[in-house]
Amino acid sequence: MPVLVYAENAEGKFKKSTFEAISYARAIANQNNTTLTAISIGNADAAELAGLGKYGAEKVLNVSNDKLKNFVNQAYAAVVAEAAKKEGAEIVVLSNSFSGRGLAPRIGVKLEAGVADGAVSLPDQSNGKFIIKRLAFSGKAYALVELTSTNKVISLSPNSYKVVETGSTAVVEDFNPEVKASDLTTIIKEIVRSTDKVSLPDADIVVSGGRGLKGPENWGMIEELAGLLGAALACSKPVSDSGWRPHSEHVGQTGIAVSPNLYIAIGISGAIQHLAGVSSSKVIVVINKDADAPFFKVADYGIVGDAFDIVPKLIGAIKEY
Ligand code: FAD
Repeated sequence: MPVLVYAENAEGKFKKSTFEAISYARAIANQNNTTLTAISIGNADAAELAGLGKYGAEKVLNVSNDKLKNFVNQAYAAVVAEAAKKEGAEIVVLSNSFSGRGLAPRIGVKLEAGVADGAVSLPDQSNGKFIIKRLAFSGKAYALVELTSTNKVISLSPNSYKVVETGSTAVVEDFNPEVKASDLTTIIKEIVRSTDKVSLPDADIVVSGGRGLKGPENWGMIEELAGLLGAALACSKPVSDSGWRPHSEHVGQTGIAVSPNLYIAIGISGAIQHLAGVSSSKVIVVINKDADAPFFKVADYGIVGDAFDIVPKLIGAIKEY
Protein backbone atom coordinates (compact mmCIF):
# COMPACT_ATOMS: atom_id res chain seq x y z
CA MET A 1 0.00 0.00 0.00
CA PRO A 2 1.87 3.12 -1.15
CA VAL A 3 1.51 6.47 0.55
CA LEU A 4 -0.04 9.18 -1.63
CA VAL A 5 1.03 12.82 -1.38
CA TYR A 6 -0.77 15.73 -3.02
CA ALA A 7 1.91 17.89 -4.66
CA GLU A 8 0.46 21.39 -4.76
CA ASN A 9 1.82 23.75 -7.37
CA ALA A 10 1.38 27.43 -8.11
CA GLU A 11 1.25 28.20 -11.82
CA GLY A 12 3.12 24.99 -12.62
CA LYS A 13 5.86 25.47 -10.02
CA PHE A 14 6.02 23.37 -6.87
CA LYS A 15 6.43 25.21 -3.60
CA LYS A 16 8.69 24.64 -0.62
CA SER A 17 5.68 23.51 1.44
CA THR A 18 5.10 20.81 -1.20
CA PHE A 19 8.69 19.58 -0.89
CA GLU A 20 8.19 19.45 2.89
CA ALA A 21 5.00 17.41 2.46
CA ILE A 22 6.74 15.00 0.06
CA SER A 23 9.74 14.60 2.39
CA TYR A 24 7.34 13.97 5.28
CA ALA A 25 5.29 11.47 3.25
CA ARG A 26 8.53 9.74 2.23
CA ALA A 27 9.41 9.29 5.90
CA ILE A 28 5.95 7.80 6.56
CA ALA A 29 6.41 5.47 3.57
CA ASN A 30 9.77 4.40 5.04
CA GLN A 31 8.14 3.77 8.42
CA ASN A 32 5.71 1.43 6.64
CA ASN A 33 8.26 -0.07 4.27
CA THR A 34 6.29 1.03 1.22
CA THR A 35 6.53 3.33 -1.80
CA LEU A 36 5.45 6.94 -2.29
CA THR A 37 3.28 8.23 -5.15
CA ALA A 38 2.68 11.94 -5.68
CA ILE A 39 -0.29 13.45 -7.49
CA SER A 40 -0.07 16.78 -9.28
CA ILE A 41 -3.04 18.66 -10.72
CA GLY A 42 -2.41 21.47 -13.17
CA ASN A 43 0.18 22.42 -15.71
CA ALA A 44 3.57 21.53 -14.21
CA ASP A 45 5.98 20.51 -16.98
CA ALA A 46 7.67 17.11 -17.31
CA ALA A 47 10.92 18.24 -15.67
CA GLU A 48 9.10 19.74 -12.68
CA LEU A 49 7.06 16.56 -12.26
CA ALA A 50 10.00 14.17 -12.55
CA GLY A 51 11.94 16.45 -10.16
CA LEU A 52 9.59 15.46 -7.33
CA GLY A 53 11.63 12.26 -7.20
CA LYS A 54 14.35 14.31 -5.56
CA TYR A 55 12.22 14.49 -2.42
CA GLY A 56 11.33 10.81 -2.39
CA ALA A 57 8.36 10.20 -4.73
CA GLU A 58 8.91 7.11 -6.92
CA LYS A 59 5.92 7.90 -9.15
CA VAL A 60 3.99 11.05 -10.02
CA LEU A 61 0.40 10.93 -11.30
CA ASN A 62 -0.09 13.94 -13.54
CA VAL A 63 -3.64 15.23 -13.90
CA SER A 64 -3.90 17.73 -16.71
CA ASN A 65 -7.47 18.78 -17.42
CA ASP A 66 -8.72 22.21 -18.50
CA LYS A 67 -11.63 21.91 -16.07
CA LEU A 68 -9.07 21.79 -13.23
CA LYS A 69 -6.96 24.72 -14.42
CA ASN A 70 -7.78 26.66 -11.26
CA PHE A 71 -8.22 25.24 -7.78
CA VAL A 72 -11.73 23.92 -6.94
CA ASN A 73 -12.02 22.23 -3.54
CA GLN A 74 -14.66 19.63 -4.42
CA ALA A 75 -13.17 18.59 -7.74
CA TYR A 76 -9.56 18.45 -6.52
CA ALA A 77 -10.62 16.42 -3.47
CA ALA A 78 -12.48 13.97 -5.76
CA VAL A 79 -9.41 13.56 -7.98
CA VAL A 80 -7.03 13.00 -5.05
CA ALA A 81 -9.45 10.47 -3.51
CA GLU A 82 -9.69 8.67 -6.88
CA ALA A 83 -5.90 8.55 -7.06
CA ALA A 84 -5.74 7.07 -3.55
CA LYS A 85 -8.24 4.36 -4.56
CA LYS A 86 -6.38 3.61 -7.81
CA GLU A 87 -3.05 3.30 -5.97
CA GLY A 88 -4.56 1.47 -3.02
CA ALA A 89 -3.08 4.16 -0.76
CA GLU A 90 -4.37 4.16 2.81
CA ILE A 91 -2.40 7.24 3.85
CA VAL A 92 -2.81 10.56 2.03
CA VAL A 93 -0.51 13.46 2.92
CA LEU A 94 -0.82 17.09 1.90
CA SER A 95 0.37 20.47 3.09
CA ASN A 96 -1.84 22.37 5.53
CA SER A 97 -1.76 25.31 3.12
CA PHE A 98 -4.79 27.43 2.21
CA SER A 99 -5.81 24.77 -0.36
CA GLY A 100 -4.80 21.89 1.89
CA ARG A 101 -7.08 23.15 4.66
CA GLY A 102 -10.03 22.92 2.28
CA LEU A 103 -8.99 19.63 0.74
CA ALA A 104 -8.09 17.50 3.77
CA PRO A 105 -11.61 17.16 5.27
CA ARG A 106 -13.19 16.64 1.83
CA ILE A 107 -10.72 13.88 0.96
CA GLY A 108 -11.37 12.45 4.42
CA VAL A 109 -15.11 12.22 3.72
CA LYS A 110 -14.57 10.61 0.31
CA LEU A 111 -12.18 7.97 1.73
CA GLU A 112 -14.01 7.54 5.05
CA ALA A 113 -10.69 8.47 6.60
CA GLY A 114 -9.67 9.96 9.93
CA VAL A 115 -8.06 13.36 9.39
CA ALA A 116 -5.19 14.94 11.33
CA ASP A 117 -4.73 18.51 10.16
CA GLY A 118 -1.80 20.75 11.06
CA ALA A 119 0.53 17.81 11.86
CA VAL A 120 3.93 18.80 13.24
CA SER A 121 5.59 15.41 13.65
CA LEU A 122 5.77 11.97 12.11
CA PRO A 123 3.15 9.50 13.33
CA ASP A 124 4.04 7.36 16.30
CA GLN A 125 3.12 3.89 15.03
CA SER A 126 4.34 1.91 18.02
CA ASN A 127 2.01 -0.69 19.58
CA GLY A 128 -0.08 -0.82 16.41
CA LYS A 129 -1.40 2.71 16.96
CA PHE A 130 -1.16 5.74 14.70
CA ILE A 131 -0.73 8.87 16.81
CA ILE A 132 0.04 12.30 15.42
CA LYS A 133 1.04 15.52 17.14
CA ARG A 134 -0.84 18.46 15.65
CA LEU A 135 -1.34 22.13 16.35
CA ALA A 136 -4.43 22.97 18.39
CA PHE A 137 -6.19 26.14 19.55
CA SER A 138 -4.74 28.31 16.76
CA GLY A 139 -1.21 27.11 17.50
CA LYS A 140 -1.33 27.84 21.25
CA ALA A 141 -1.17 24.14 22.14
CA TYR A 142 -0.47 20.71 20.68
CA ALA A 143 -2.87 17.79 20.60
CA LEU A 144 -1.97 14.13 20.21
CA VAL A 145 -4.60 12.54 17.99
CA GLU A 146 -4.99 8.87 17.22
CA LEU A 147 -6.30 7.92 13.78
CA THR A 148 -8.13 4.63 14.19
CA SER A 149 -9.61 4.32 10.65
CA THR A 150 -7.93 2.24 7.94
CA ASN A 151 -7.63 5.26 5.64
CA LYS A 152 -5.88 8.31 7.01
CA VAL A 153 -5.44 11.89 5.79
CA ILE A 154 -2.66 14.03 7.25
CA SER A 155 -2.05 17.68 6.45
CA LEU A 156 1.40 18.89 7.43
CA SER A 157 1.85 22.29 9.03
CA PRO A 158 4.22 24.34 6.78
CA ASN A 159 7.78 24.78 8.13
CA SER A 160 7.41 21.94 10.63
CA TYR A 161 9.29 19.25 8.68
CA LYS A 162 12.52 19.83 6.83
CA VAL A 163 12.94 19.22 3.12
CA VAL A 164 15.06 16.11 2.52
CA GLU A 165 16.56 15.43 -0.91
CA THR A 166 17.12 11.80 -1.82
CA GLY A 167 18.36 12.61 -5.32
CA SER A 168 16.35 10.34 -7.66
CA THR A 169 13.91 11.04 -10.52
CA ALA A 170 10.25 10.04 -10.43
CA VAL A 171 8.36 8.17 -13.13
CA VAL A 172 5.55 10.37 -14.47
CA GLU A 173 2.23 8.77 -15.42
CA ASP A 174 -0.86 10.53 -16.84
CA PHE A 175 -3.98 10.15 -14.76
CA ASN A 176 -7.32 11.34 -16.13
CA PRO A 177 -10.22 10.53 -13.84
CA GLU A 178 -13.66 11.75 -14.77
CA VAL A 179 -14.45 15.22 -13.36
CA LYS A 180 -18.14 15.44 -12.47
CA ALA A 181 -20.11 18.61 -13.20
CA SER A 182 -21.49 18.38 -9.64
CA ASP A 183 -17.92 18.93 -8.35
CA LEU A 184 -17.55 22.07 -10.43
CA THR A 185 -20.30 24.27 -9.08
CA THR A 186 -17.95 27.13 -8.19
CA ILE A 187 -15.28 27.89 -10.75
CA ILE A 188 -12.48 30.43 -10.54
CA LYS A 189 -12.42 32.00 -13.99
CA GLU A 190 -9.26 34.04 -13.56
CA ILE A 191 -6.68 34.78 -10.88
CA VAL A 192 -5.21 38.26 -10.99
CA ARG A 193 -2.05 38.67 -8.96
CA SER A 194 -2.24 41.71 -6.70
CA THR A 195 1.45 41.66 -5.80
CA ASP A 196 4.77 40.07 -6.69
CA LYS A 197 5.84 40.06 -3.03
CA VAL A 198 6.61 36.88 -1.06
CA SER A 199 3.39 35.03 -0.17
CA LEU A 200 2.72 35.29 3.57
CA PRO A 201 1.50 31.74 4.38
CA ASP A 202 4.51 30.15 2.61
CA ALA A 203 7.16 32.60 3.78
CA ASP A 204 10.35 31.45 5.47
CA ILE A 205 10.81 34.84 7.07
CA VAL A 206 8.09 37.30 8.09
CA VAL A 207 8.62 40.93 9.09
CA SER A 208 5.58 42.19 10.94
CA GLY A 209 4.65 45.67 12.17
CA GLY A 210 2.22 46.87 14.81
CA ARG A 211 0.65 50.04 16.10
CA GLY A 212 3.99 51.05 17.60
CA LEU A 213 4.99 52.17 14.11
CA LYS A 214 2.54 55.08 14.46
CA GLY A 215 1.28 55.24 10.88
CA PRO A 216 1.42 53.90 7.32
CA GLU A 217 4.00 56.52 6.34
CA ASN A 218 6.56 54.65 8.48
CA TRP A 219 6.28 51.31 6.65
CA GLY A 220 9.09 52.20 4.24
CA MET A 221 11.72 50.87 6.63
CA ILE A 222 9.67 47.72 7.31
CA GLU A 223 9.38 47.06 3.56
CA GLU A 224 13.08 47.71 3.10
CA LEU A 225 13.99 45.27 5.89
CA ALA A 226 11.62 42.63 4.45
CA GLY A 227 13.05 43.17 0.97
CA LEU A 228 16.62 42.67 2.18
CA LEU A 229 15.69 39.46 4.01
CA GLY A 230 13.43 38.10 1.23
CA ALA A 231 10.64 38.17 3.81
CA ALA A 232 6.88 38.52 3.57
CA LEU A 233 5.16 41.46 5.26
CA ALA A 234 2.61 41.04 8.03
CA CYS A 235 0.89 43.28 10.57
CA SER A 236 -1.28 43.25 13.67
CA LYS A 237 -5.07 43.54 13.43
CA PRO A 238 -5.40 47.21 14.46
CA VAL A 239 -2.90 48.12 11.76
CA SER A 240 -5.03 46.57 9.01
CA ASP A 241 -8.27 47.74 10.67
CA SER A 242 -6.91 51.30 10.50
CA GLY A 243 -6.18 50.86 6.81
CA TRP A 244 -2.42 51.30 7.30
CA ARG A 245 -1.83 47.92 5.64
CA PRO A 246 -4.01 45.55 3.58
CA HIS A 247 -6.13 42.98 5.44
CA SER A 248 -4.24 40.23 3.61
CA GLU A 249 -1.26 40.99 5.90
CA HIS A 250 -3.19 40.67 9.17
CA VAL A 251 -1.93 37.72 11.22
CA GLY A 252 -3.39 36.23 14.36
CA GLN A 253 -6.48 34.48 15.62
CA THR A 254 -8.76 36.32 13.21
CA GLY A 255 -6.16 36.65 10.45
CA ILE A 256 -3.65 34.36 8.78
CA ALA A 257 -1.78 31.80 10.87
CA VAL A 258 1.90 31.67 9.98
CA SER A 259 4.74 29.40 11.07
CA PRO A 260 7.88 30.76 9.41
CA ASN A 261 11.41 29.93 10.43
CA LEU A 262 11.85 33.55 11.54
CA TYR A 263 9.15 36.01 12.68
CA ILE A 264 10.30 39.56 13.42
CA ALA A 265 7.69 41.55 15.36
CA ILE A 266 8.23 45.31 15.41
CA GLY A 267 6.12 47.56 17.63
CA ILE A 268 3.63 44.80 18.43
CA SER A 269 2.58 44.26 22.04
CA GLY A 270 2.00 40.48 21.76
CA ALA A 271 -1.69 40.24 22.67
CA ILE A 272 -2.92 36.67 22.97
CA GLN A 273 -5.00 37.00 19.79
CA HIS A 274 -1.90 38.02 17.84
CA LEU A 275 0.24 35.24 19.34
CA ALA A 276 -2.43 32.68 18.36
CA GLY A 277 -1.38 33.11 14.73
CA VAL A 278 2.38 33.33 15.11
CA SER A 279 3.46 31.32 18.14
CA SER A 280 4.42 28.24 16.12
CA SER A 281 7.14 30.26 14.34
CA LYS A 282 10.55 28.62 14.80
CA VAL A 283 12.41 31.75 15.97
CA ILE A 284 10.68 34.91 17.18
CA VAL A 285 12.51 38.24 17.37
CA VAL A 286 10.72 41.10 19.12
CA ILE A 287 11.58 44.78 18.88
CA ASN A 288 9.59 46.86 21.36
CA LYS A 289 10.42 49.93 23.43
CA ASP A 290 8.50 48.59 26.43
CA ALA A 291 10.55 45.95 28.26
CA ASP A 292 7.31 44.63 29.83
CA ALA A 293 5.55 44.00 26.50
CA PRO A 294 4.01 40.48 26.67
CA PHE A 295 5.63 39.51 23.36
CA PHE A 296 9.03 39.26 25.10
CA LYS A 297 7.73 36.25 27.09
CA VAL A 298 7.55 34.14 23.91
CA ALA A 299 10.51 35.75 22.10
CA ASP A 300 13.71 33.84 21.34
CA TYR A 301 15.52 37.16 20.92
CA GLY A 302 14.32 40.52 22.17
CA ILE A 303 15.53 44.04 21.53
CA VAL A 304 14.21 46.66 23.94
CA GLY A 305 14.37 49.93 22.06
CA ASP A 306 12.72 52.38 19.72
CA ALA A 307 11.87 50.79 16.35
CA PHE A 308 12.77 54.05 14.62
CA ASP A 309 16.29 53.70 15.98
CA ILE A 310 16.71 49.88 15.80
CA VAL A 311 15.25 49.08 12.35
CA PRO A 312 17.46 51.51 10.37
CA LYS A 313 20.49 50.10 12.26
CA LEU A 314 19.42 46.55 11.34
CA ILE A 315 19.01 47.57 7.70
CA GLY A 316 22.47 49.17 7.72
CA ALA A 317 24.04 46.07 9.28
CA ILE A 318 22.39 43.73 6.75
CA LYS A 319 23.57 45.94 3.87
CA GLU A 320 27.11 45.84 5.19
CA TYR A 321 27.02 42.06 5.72
P1 FAD B 1 -0.72 47.82 20.64
O1 FAD B 1 -1.33 46.90 21.58
O2 FAD B 1 -1.12 49.26 20.70
O3 FAD B 1 0.85 47.72 20.89
C1 FAD B 1 1.80 48.54 20.27
C2 FAD B 1 3.15 48.14 20.83
O4 FAD B 1 4.14 48.92 20.20
C3 FAD B 1 3.32 48.36 22.33
O5 FAD B 1 3.79 47.17 22.94
C4 FAD B 1 4.34 49.48 22.45
O6 FAD B 1 5.21 49.32 23.57
C5 FAD B 1 5.11 49.31 21.18
N1 FAD B 1 5.70 50.54 20.69
C6 FAD B 1 5.18 51.80 20.67
N2 FAD B 1 6.04 52.65 20.08
C7 FAD B 1 7.13 51.94 19.76
C8 FAD B 1 8.35 52.27 19.14
N3 FAD B 1 8.61 53.52 18.73
N4 FAD B 1 9.27 51.30 18.97
C9 FAD B 1 9.03 50.02 19.38
N5 FAD B 1 7.88 49.63 19.97
C10 FAD B 1 6.93 50.59 20.15
N6 FAD B 1 -4.82 41.24 17.02
C11 FAD B 1 -4.01 40.73 16.07
O7 FAD B 1 -2.87 41.21 15.85
N7 FAD B 1 -4.43 39.66 15.31
C12 FAD B 1 -5.64 39.09 15.47
O8 FAD B 1 -5.97 38.15 14.75
C13 FAD B 1 -6.51 39.62 16.46
N8 FAD B 1 -7.73 39.07 16.66
C14 FAD B 1 -8.52 39.57 17.67
C15 FAD B 1 -9.74 38.95 17.93
C16 FAD B 1 -10.52 39.41 18.97
C17 FAD B 1 -11.85 38.73 19.23
C18 FAD B 1 -10.12 40.53 19.74
C19 FAD B 1 -10.94 41.02 20.87
C20 FAD B 1 -8.91 41.13 19.48
C21 FAD B 1 -8.09 40.69 18.43
N9 FAD B 1 -6.87 41.28 18.15
C22 FAD B 1 -6.06 40.74 17.22
C23 FAD B 1 -6.44 42.54 18.81
C24 FAD B 1 -5.47 42.28 19.95
O9 FAD B 1 -6.20 42.04 21.13
C25 FAD B 1 -4.56 43.53 20.17
O10 FAD B 1 -5.38 44.65 20.40
C26 FAD B 1 -3.66 43.83 19.00
O11 FAD B 1 -2.93 42.67 18.62
C27 FAD B 1 -2.68 44.93 19.37
O12 FAD B 1 -1.99 45.33 18.23
P2 FAD B 1 -0.55 46.02 18.37
O13 FAD B 1 0.32 45.17 19.20
O14 FAD B 1 -0.12 46.42 17.01
O15 FAD B 1 -0.92 47.39 19.13
